[in-house]
Amino acid sequence: MSLVLHVDAARWRGHLRAVAAATPGLVPVVKGNGYGLGRARLASEAADLGLDTIAVGTYTEVPGLADAFPGDLLVLTPWRPFEVAAGATAGTTTGTDAPARRVVHTVGRLVDLDALLLREPDAHYVLERVTSMRRHGLTAPDLRAAAARVGDGLRGVSFHLPLAGSNLAEARRLMTDVVAAELPTRTVFASHLAGEDLAALRSSYADYTVRPRVGTDLWLGDRGALRVTSTVLDVHPVERGDAFGYRARTAPRAGTVLVVSGGTAHGIGLESPSGDLSLRSRAATLARGGLDAAGFVRSPYSVDGKQRLFAEPPHMQASMLFVPAGPRVPEVGEEIEVRVRYTATDVDEVVFS
Ligand SMILES: *Cc1c(COP(=O)(O)O)cnc(C)c1O
Repeated sequence: MSLVLHVDAARWRGHLRAVAAATPGLVPVVKGNGYGLGRARLASEAADLGLDTIAVGTYTEVPGLADAFPGDLLVLTPWRPFEVAAGATAGTTTGTDAPARRVVHTVGRLVDLDALLLREPDAHYVLERVTSMRRHGLTAPDLRAAAARVGDGLRGVSFHLPLAGSNLAEARRLMTDVVAAELPTRTVFASHLAGEDLAALRSSYADYTVRPRVGTDLWLGDRGALRVTSTVLDVHPVERGDAFGYRARTAPRAGTVLVVSGGTAHGIGLESPSGDLSLRSRAATLARGGLDAAGFVRSPYSVDGKQRLFAEPPHMQASMLFVPAGPRVPEVGEEIEVRVRYTATDVDEVVFS
């Protein structure tokens, strides 16, 4: 059996509809591992919500999503002359609904604006304004310079704001640059701007349309609708001193070695998502003389209501846990809960119920 993501479909879709209704102009972000649910699935959910645009991470993600989503595909990775091949192979360029005609490029350098328009004069694109993240984008003077070069293909300006704290002050400064640039667009795509900050920016710039790009808070915003389970594959009772695993490690006391599904191939790692790795907590663990002091590391798997320790580093498709004598030991075939980082986990199966 495998690592399974169980989705409470009614509850999850209820959350998606609530976010979409509360967020005019919403642009769902569909990228990477599809936030654990799979990109194609998310693209078709976005289509069901009746939205006109999704944002994808890279050009290579475009062809696989163009069938699932009939609207525009905004590529978050900035266009570069060396990326053009992938963008051009997004599909045939004939017809207005052909994938290549639905791609909206992100342009982050003036040289790229010139190169893109030279190669694809009718390209659709947004101009990325660099933020305090310093990831990609144009400076304020660049944005003003761009105004003289853009044409009908301009779809908006885009900001990627950092996650920490309130972004409103920074968003306002960036809006000042947008206004000053006098571009022929009144649309701004903003990442990581939500709630009151988004509302405040909209009311200050009422003649602009601010379109939030949202991934995590949309797809993973109601964690109670999602649950990941692993299956117990084998159960080995051990006495203190019994050897197990690739490295013939020995059991520090009597208990059980459990073999459960899910390993490094799924993204199951040594770091527990809730792991408190501070020096102080480690010192406290050592002082208590716990099993983790003996070199065992906390796993994301729960048995009998408690997160358990890895018996050794996870293997490719399975992991070994050590459960000291005491708790109820699950049987082969039983499902146990796993806490995962959804954006870094590839489950074997997503089950909607
Ligand atoms: C990934 C990404 C997002 C979505 O981020 P979430 O935190 O998942 O909402 C938005 N904008 C850009 C540019 C991104 O790369």
